[in-house]
Amino acid sequence: MKLTKITPRGFCKGVVDAWALCRKVAKENPNREIYLIGWLVHNKNMIEDIEKLSIKTIDDVHISREEIINSIDKNKNPIVIFSAHGTNPKVIEYARNIGLEVYDATCVYVTNVQKLIKEKINNGYQIIYIGVRNHPESNSILSLHSSIQFVSDINDIDKIVIDPNNKIFVTNQTTISIYEFYDIVKILKIKYKNIEFKNDICNAAKERQEAVINMDDTIDLLLVVGDKKSNNTNKLCQMGIKKNVETYLVSNLSDIDYNWFINKKHVGITSGCSTPTWVTNSIITKLEEYIRGQNGKNNC
Ligand code: SF4
Repeated sequence: MKLTKITPRGFCKGVVDAWALCRKVAKENPNREIYLIGWLVHNKNMIEDIEKLSIKTIDDVHISREEIINSIDKNKNPIVIFSAHGTNPKVIEYARNIGLEVYDATCVYVTNVQKLIKEKINNGYQIIYIGVRNHPESNSILSLHSSIQFVSDINDIDKIVIDPNNKIFVTNQTTISIYEFYDIVKILKIKYKNIEFKNDICNAAKERQEAVINMDDTIDLLLVVGDKKSNNTNKLCQMGIKKNVETYLVSNLSDIDYNWFINKKHVGITSGCSTPTWVTNSIITKLEEYIRGQNGKNNC
């Protein structure tokens, strides 16, 4: 069996920057309580690493971000960090206004989409946003204006409430799949004439997806290392499945089932933008050992 380490894979700039911000804040404030509002990025291994910095993550889908902020004891002079996915700007402002020290780890690519949408609304455009339902990034975008129309799949297109005679602008979540974007855009183009598009899938997500689309055709099993909560990781799995390759999402070494490799000739491995390098490397090391063992057996 052969192993191909697909590149690029793993950490993107947005995740590296968010992680560096947490480390800096923790280092400069050793005696203060620090809270992360929402998972910094969608990876449980990362959350455990962040806990080691004595930063407490508060994330509860049943409680609004504002309620989370209110639940923090202000008398202890706490610090709050907002996640890389983006947060409703009003919540961030609220946290500042009530006297919390605030850091915002929102990825620059998400911030750029937020700015662009605001600019387009100010210029009289109606907005259609393609994203994943209930994902923090989509929620942060939808919080910008109540008129933004949300499309998570082609079935949502008929539910859009928009004036076809006025200007329409379409953009999207940074980590959706290339296929999803173009499938939806194709239908929107037929339905609306007065429409402009900007594909805002970030370079990191796009390049990792393209690497799976273009991976060696002899790969007959694909391992995608990442967390089930991570949208960009799930999209890499979808790319593998679309190529009819047996694909498994694994969060760490203990998820590997060696029965998967029986009769397999060529395994590909990739990882999501939020997957720590050490997690992927630990799996690669074990697989290389396994392959050496297999080859040794074959030589006997
Ligand atoms: S996947 Fe893209 S948008 Fe998300 S943190 Fe990484 S660079 Fe930023």
